[in-house]
Amino acid sequence: MRARKSVYIAYTGGTIGMRQGAHGYEPAPGFLEEQMSRLPVLASPDMPRYRIHEYDPLLDSANMSPADWVKLGRDIMSRYDRYDGFIVLHGTDTMAFSASSLSFMFRNLGKPIVFTGSQIPLCEVRTDARENLITSLLLAARHPIPEVSLFVGHQLLRGNRATKVSAKRFLAFSSPNYPPLGEAGVDLVINRDRVLPSPSEPIAFDAVGHAQVADLRIFPGITPETLEAFLGPLHGAVLHTYGAGNAPDRPELLEVLQQASERGVVLVNCTQCLEGSVNMAGYATGNALREAGVISGYDMTPEAALTKLYYLLSQDLDPEEIREQMQQNLRGELSRPAAEP
Ligand code: ASP
Repeated sequence: MRARKSVYIAYTGGTIGMRQGAHGYEPAPGFLEEQMSRLPVLASPDMPRYRIHEYDPLLDSANMSPADWVKLGRDIMSRYDRYDGFIVLHGTDTMAFSASSLSFMFRNLGKPIVFTGSQIPLCEVRTDARENLITSLLLAARHPIPEVSLFVGHQLLRGNRATKVSAKRFLAFSSPNYPPLGEAGVDLVINRDRVLPSPSEPIAFDAVGHAQVADLRIFPGITPETLEAFLGPLHGAVLHTYGAGNAPDRPELLEVLQQASERGVVLVNCTQCLEGSVNMAGYATGNALREAGVISGYDMTPEAALTKLYYLLSQDLDPEEIREQMQQNLRGELSRPAAEP
């Protein structure tokens, strides 16, 4: 008989454990565990043993900040040797940010960290939480995927490739630029060739600090004044540009970008499109950004780009080194074309 594996569940909050309050769904201490105790399947010998740790306070993930990512990462790191795998129960709204941030903060991760949550709370009749929770437990226990992943709906996605695309479907996430790591149908199928290799070095954890970073969605009519005011206090920014990485190439706007780059602000170009990669050699408008010091985010999700900026800005690196590493594939978050112009 197979020895029962052991999984640690960090319960941070989110819809999965919420109940109806006076102003809508809200987390309630002790409520999720009480609901889970009513699921006999969790005590089945086919399921792993688990220990659940409820965070205080439980958060709607809209309220999560980098300090919460660090708290979560440190918690898992402190228990890393004692469990076969880890589950993070988390709201879906900012799950892709938290999963991306953990993927960067852990170096040489050798065990699975699976983020999951739900669109309908576990206490409701039509909940999607039950399947997400049960399958995540099986994934974390039986499939030694050395990655931060995300399981919601029936797909296992790389965490730093995932983005929330639906507020109503159970399949709430998509991984537009990297295929799913696995799929839960009749069988639980893992695509091994898509999973990162096991590390040969020991696990390490580098917390993110207090960098000033931000996202800016470029829009028709953006003025140099707006851009300047926005970039003023920042150390880094993700510019959400049009299509293959284009923005208006009016000289007054480019000058603001150039000046920001020169004072050390790291400017990363990600596309507003859900799918595809930035190619700043494709159009004159994209090329002008490159000449103003903006670097390519290639096919990173905006969530991965922002959390990677937080991560790199928290290391002892100068802006040029950060720009260099932003464009490298650190944790499977980015693909670069084989031949670049
Ligand atoms: N607002 C919730 C949260 O992100 C939504 C969810 O869990 O799906 O915490």
